[in-house]
Amino acid sequence: MKDSYRHKGLRKKLVESISDRGITDERVLSAIAHIPRHFFLDKAFEEIAYEDRAFPIGNEQTISQPYTVAYQTVLLDVQKREKVLEIGTGSGYQAAVLSYLGARVYTIERQEDLYKKASHFLPQIGFEGIRFYYRDGYKGLPEFAPFDKVLVTAGAKEIPQELVRQLKIGGVMVIPVGKGDVQTMYRFVKQDDNTLIEESFDDFRFVPFLNGKNPRQ
Ligand code: SAH
Repeated sequence: MKDSYRHKGLRKKLVESISDRGITDERVLSAIAHIPRHFFLDKAFEEIAYEDRAFPIGNEQTISQPYTVAYQTVLLDVQKREKVLEIGTGSGYQAAVLSYLGARVYTIERQEDLYKKASHFLPQIGFEGIRFYYRDGYKGLPEFAPFDKVLVTAGAKEIPQELVRQLKIGGVMVIPVGKGDVQTMYRFVKQDDNTLIEESFDDFRFVPFLNGKNPRQ
C-alpha cells in the first residue's frame, strides 16, 4: 500500500473542505491530514477515498464520512492518555484518529469479518496500541471500565445504560440517538452516578447500533 504525494494533496483538500464546514480543532484536522484514509478502503475506492462521503466496507457497513468523524472527535475532546471506548470499529479509521490524538483506544465490533480485518491491519500501518474486541457493544467492556470517554459510531435508538455505567464520573459520551433513519448527535457528561448532563447537536445518518454479535454463518 502506497501513500503518494497525490494522496497527500487530496487529503489537504479534504481537510480544507471540512474546515470550511466549521471544524476548527487543529488537532483533529491534523489527524485527518495525516491518516491515509484510502488504506481503510478497497482498492476500487482509491480514487475517491478523499471525497467527504461514507463508503461501503463490506457486511452492509460503512466507513463514516470524514466530516462526521471530525465532528464526533471534536465533541469528544480527547486528551492524551485518556481511556476511550469506541463502539463500532468498522474500518478502524475512527479508532486510528483517536489513537493519533494520544488516546488509549478500546474498540468493539459485532461483525467478525470487520473485527478481524481492522485488528490485523491497523498494527501494520503503525497503530500498535489499539485494543480490538469482537463483542456486543451494548455490553461495553466491564473489565476495563471506567472510561474517560465513550464514542458510539452507530445510530442508537436509546441511550445504552451499561455504557453510561462504564463512564467515569466526569466522563463524556458522544452518541447519535434517534428512533428513525436520522439521529441527533448528543453529548452526555456523567456528573454523578444518577445525573447526566445532556447537550444536543446536529442530525446525522448512521448505520444502526444493533443488539448482539452477528450470528455466525
Ligand atoms: N467507526 C467506524 C464506522 C463504522 S459504522 C469507522 O471508522 O469505519 C458502525 C459500525 O458499528 C459497523 O461496523 C457495525 O457493524 C457496528 N455495530 C453496530 N452495532 C454494534 C454493536 N452492538 N456492537 C459493536 N458494533 C456494532
